[in-house]
Parts: sequence; C-alpha cells; structure tokens
Amino acid sequence: MTSSGVFSAQTDISLSACNAALDESRNAPGRWRSRQNGGVLILFDIDGTLLLRASREHAEALREALGVVYGARVFGRVPAAGRTDTAIARDIAALSGVSAERFDSGLAEFIASCGELYARRAPPTLGDRVAPGMLELLEVLEGRPEVTCSLVTGNYEAVARLKLERAGLGRFFAAGQGAFGSDSESRDLLPAIARERAGAWPRERTLLVGDTPLDVACARADGIRVLAVATGNYEARELAEADAVFADGFELARVLLEDELAPSPS
Ligand SMILES: [Mg+2]
Repeated sequence: MTSSGVFSAQTDISLSACNAALDESRNAPGRWRSRQNGGVLILFDIDGTLLLRASREHAEALREALGVVYGARVFGRVPAAGRTDTAIARDIAALSGVSAERFDSGLAEFIASCGELYARRAPPTLGDRVAPGMLELLEVLEGRPEVTCSLVTGNYEAVARLKLERAGLGRFFAAGQGAFGSDSESRDLLPAIARERAGAWPRERTLLVGDTPLDVACARADGIRVLAVATGNYEARELAEADAVFADGFELARVLLEDELAPSPS
C-alpha cells in the first residue's frame, strides 16, 4: 500500500483517522475544497519535509555567524529538528558563554550574517535533496486554483528561500508569504503569521505539513490541522499526535489529491 514500505499497521491507523476527518469535511460544504470560499492554504515545513539532508551548510553558516557576531568559539551540540534558527543559535550561544542580553542585542546582525554566510556555502544545486514525492505534489497543487501553498519553517527567510531556489522549488512559494525563523523565535507563532500574510486565512481551511513533533505542536497551538511525513528524523509512531502520518510525499499526495483536493468537474 505504501510506496516506501516503511509503514505497517501504524500507517493504516493514521490514514483511517485522516480519511474520517476528510469525510467529515466533505459533509461541510465550503470548509475545504470549495474554491468560492477561498480554498485550502497548505503550509510546508522545509527540512525533513520538502528537503532532506539540506541542512549541513546551513548549520555551518549558523555556527560561523555565531563566531562572527558574538565571538563564540566553543560549539556544543543542541537539539535542532523542528526548532527555529534563533532558538538553536540561542542555545549554542549560551553554551559558548554568550549572555541572553548580548544574544538579543546582536540578533538582527546575526540573522543577516547567517543569510550571507549560507549564501556563500550553499551548494550550487540542491535538486537531489528534494524529499520523495514533494516535487510531484507541488507541481499538481500549482495547477489547482483552490490550493495555495506557503511555508512555515524555522529557517531564517534568506536561508529558506535560497535552499528552495537551489532545489528547484522556489517558484512554488510566493515572495511576501510564509513564516520563518526570522519572524519569531517561537515556532508556535509561525502558522498564525503565515495565515495573516495569506490574507487572514481561516484556521479551518489551513493545513500544515511537517516532519517533527514540534511541527505538530505549532499546528496545535494555532488550532489548525497537521499532516506529518516520516521522512525526517522521526518515525510514524513519534508523530502520532498529527491528524495523519504518511510515509512520504507520494503517499501524502495520494490522499490529498484523490480524496480531498480533486477539483470539481466544471
Ligand atoms: Mg522539519
């Protein structure tokens, strides 16, 4: 059933739950698929969701910027998956003896420096880092007027945009849209920022796609639905709090496109 074979019973349970939710939404006209009511906003995470193994140069740039801006020289390891760049950097800076006050006063410079240093390090192409099924999914969604694709990522915006551009996914995500680690240190605040930028998009027609428990948590914090893909560092069972868990973008696309987002005949 699954394209990757990664899943067993756990997936079926999650898919059933998702299908039940979709059936429910089909019985509520105007909540999901109807274009005249504005359609669906889908907020994609980047690392572990749209792109795989695309964070090494990003992490290097972040550490280098910590050195440039704060003089940090000792770099401990801190949790990174699902966190915002500022949250990660603050913890590393603290391990390096940088006070919270000093970190905050240099933050704007740090964000700019991180973007510049990433631009120097970014591989010329990240086309081979696109997660399975995601290019195919975005290409189909691009042709669906009832769907708007946007971003919710802990990456700083300059880093996020360059990663997507190098991966050949930049055209799917409009400038001025989305929410990034440069907008808030708290991921929980990002979905609401992305909805606001999309024109105060209603919660009930917004869907977040991510790969970590923190993606699930930020969707919950904003009261929106969340679909998880087990393509990052977490297995399906660790993402069970999501509304549904998928092996990868291909499996996600099958449910989204066939069961929910198929356009009405016109
Ligand atoms: Mg992620």
